[in-house]
Amino acid sequence: MNNCDLIIIGAGASGLLAAIHASESGLKVAVVEKMSSAGRKILITGKGRCNITNSSEIKDFIKEIYPDGRFLYPAFKKFFTYDILNLLENAGVEVILERGGRYFPKSEQASDIVDALYSKALKNGVEFYFNASVVSVFYQDHQVAGVDYILDKEKKRIIAPKVIICTGGKSYPGTGSDGDGYKLAEQAGHKIEKVFPALVPLVIKEDYGAQMQGLTLKNISAKLIVDGKKIAEEFGDLMFAHYGLSGPVILTISRKAVIALDNKSKVNVTIDFKPALDYNTLDKRLLRDLNENGKKKVENVFKLLLPQRAIEVFLQILHIEREKPANQISAKERKAIADLLKNFNCNIIGHRGFKEAVITAGGVSLDEVNPKTLESKILKGLYFAGEVLNLDANTGGYNLQIAFSTGWLAADSAVNS
Ligand SMILES: Cc1cc2nc3c(=O)[nH]c(=O)nc-3n(C[C@H](O)[C@H](O)[C@H](O)COP(=O)(O)OP(=O)(O)OC[C@H]3O[C@@H](n4cnc5c(N)ncnc54)[C@H](O)[C@@H]3O)c2cc1C
Repeated sequence: MNNCDLIIIGAGASGLLAAIHASESGLKVAVVEKMSSAGRKILITGKGRCNITNSSEIKDFIKEIYPDGRFLYPAFKKFFTYDILNLLENAGVEVILERGGRYFPKSEQASDIVDALYSKALKNGVEFYFNASVVSVFYQDHQVAGVDYILDKEKKRIIAPKVIICTGGKSYPGTGSDGDGYKLAEQAGHKIEKVFPALVPLVIKEDYGAQMQGLTLKNISAKLIVDGKKIAEEFGDLMFAHYGLSGPVILTISRKAVIALDNKSKVNVTIDFKPALDYNTLDKRLLRDLNENGKKKVENVFKLLLPQRAIEVFLQILHIEREKPANQISAKERKAIADLLKNFNCNIIGHRGFKEAVITAGGVSLDEVNPKTLESKILKGLYFAGEVLNLDANTGGYNLQIAFSTGWLAADSAVNS
């Protein structure tokens, strides 16, 4: 086929949905994918389990999306959570609902999602070109006319009046999403809002990361402090890595941290190891533990409060001898212990790169894309869907739903224009 009705660039979450919807509506569809198979990124979602979507209602869903989820109202109105779940269930994928409204395939295999979507598109007659990297979208009289791609070092062409760019962002580039979509959009005259990694681990100045590498703290609270002001707080799990901090609570606050670092602000994360106890209750508990275990070494009393690897770091920061008997801890030292448990401070000096970012923030400016159709306001016949757009969301299944809904709407517009 070198002539068709619609070309979709990228066989990821948005591209597969667009292909399914356009083909079932009767269009002759070609999907051009630079990798050797479809849905490489979907395979690694949700740690291989794929958090497909979220059960929140639209009004709550859009609050999880940056910079402005309201852009997605038309897409969500046409294709939302129940639609993707129906589609998957009709394709034989059973789903389960977990805490936080997160849907997963019952099999816990992300590959089942890829198989279901890819098989459905194939059954509908969609033609896939693999190992084919699109290098340009070409135009005639301000109207899309087709794409050029490279296959086996040779430049080839497909002709079509409509193209949807579904190339994803720049994060985890090994999956194929390496930022090409921004170049294609720029070639078409589109503005790209500054692109940066989000849902990304943070780098700290102190060497606690190395000392506590691999340690996971459960049910802690982490506050993001920018120029001395608390701007975010999250409860949940945190992990130490050799460079600093990772884990769900850190990924969630990272977007704001990355922006603050970029603005040259002073950025700190403080960890509350005991969020369920207020300061006074914690102090009373400390007093009791120290009194009841008065003859024990302080390091053994710390075992009642902290994981082993954190004990080493606490003793260093507090300058308390590990062998000191608990009943010799002064009131001042006890206050310092309580302070550290409630406010363990890390100076944030950077963040990890796109290779470790779950999502790319920034992208094709929403000002130049019609939210009702996802068509370019600059070039007729050009559409955008998925992460390539200037949209990103928190964890919880929101990002895949954005891709599914925008893929579906862009295809629907291409069918009906
Ligand atoms: C580790 C990790 C875990 C995640 N977990 C979840 C989760 O559980 N739930 C959730 O909602 N979201 C999750 N996400 C985010 C989610 O995977 C993405 O937001 C979503 O896949 C974006 O879909 P997309 O179609 O826009 O892009 P992608 O799925 O990235 O697909 C883009 C496709 O375009 C292809 N492509 C790029 N350039 C070209 C070109 N020039 N020519 C041809 N093809 C090209 C790529 O090879 C790729 O196949 C996770 C992301 C990561 C990295």
